[in-house]
Amino acid sequence: MVLLKKDKDLDGLRKSGKILVSILLALKEAARADVSLMDLEKKAREMLQEAGASSAFLNYKPEGAKKPYPAVLCTSLNDQIVHGIPTNIRLKEGDILKIDFGVVFDGYVTDAALTVGIGKISEEAESLMKTTEEALQAGLEAMKAPGSRIGDIGWAIENAAEKDGFSVVEGLTGHGVGFKLHEDPIVYNYGNKGEGMLLKKGLVLAIEPMLSAGSPQSVQMKDDSFYTKDGSLSAHFEKTVAVTEHGIEILTSF
Ligand code: MG
Repeated sequence: MVLLKKDKDLDGLRKSGKILVSILLALKEAARADVSLMDLEKKAREMLQEAGASSAFLNYKPEGAKKPYPAVLCTSLNDQIVHGIPTNIRLKEGDILKIDFGVVFDGYVTDAALTVGIGKISEEAESLMKTTEEALQAGLEAMKAPGSRIGDIGWAIENAAEKDGFSVVEGLTGHGVGFKLHEDPIVYNYGNKGEGMLLKKGLVLAIEPMLSAGSPQSVQMKDDSFYTKDGSLSAHFEKTVAVTEHGIEILTSF
């Protein structure tokens, strides 16, 4: 069931989103060679506490997962696409790291992610990250016109990915968000223009293209994280966005 948000809910979501972005950008800054994934997790926990907010991910059990999620961050490296659990692994020059983060403040949930390159990265990695960010932007643009539908978002994302020779990872999607981490509807990163649900005022979505430099297929590992099947690089960007009377409002703007 799709739960539309009222104006007072948007006030709460704005606050949640602001906290999320301030922490996510601090983590991006902190992600350097020799820093461990667990260092980033600790920093996120401290900053959440300082902000009086909590994690949307800790102890969350997504459909299909074997156990509740043990961390506040998902930190996924290189060919790992999403849901990487922070470990003592240290970042090294040339890595690309996806940081995915969800915040609950006053009961309102926001979700966002970015990919950061560590030191000097390959041209392919640079290009994949740029295209993934552009695909997110294209998805958001597609929501702005009156009468837009959910298929327009997926169409725009897929097109932006494929024009640069990258593929949309199959089986991983965006979603409704706001009262809970995962709400209806599912937002596919591919689709047909003019198809699917009409984007109505009050709809709040997490738009999140996950692209691969190679195969669109993924495999889920024992720890529940997803990797590209062929070992190619993957990038991920995500924002929480509300449909308003006049278009859209990005609730996790960075
Ligand atoms: Mg998400």
